[in-house]
Amino acid sequence: MQSQCAFCQGDLDEKTITYPTEFDGRVVIVDNVPALVCSQCGEVALRPDVAEKLQQIVWGKTLRPKTVAVDAYNFADVA
Ligand SMILES: [Zn+2]
Repeated sequence: MQSQCAFCQGDLDEKTITYPTEFDGRVVIVDNVPALVCSQCGEVALRPDVAEKLQQIVWGKTLRPKTVAVDAYNFADVA
């Protein structure tokens, strides 16, 4: 099992995160995703089985999502 960050060799902490991704041009988030988060750079690593399940959730549309409000910013708006 992976225990070091692939980018900075920092330690990976087992955490439950809110995972943002994109589907059909919309931002979707999945709550309570088990992930390995680098304690140094914050890089998020997903186990293959977790990544696969995420794809099933987002692409398979078998679960009914709840709709939440998301604040969207445009980076190009910064002067
Ligand atoms: Zn790292």
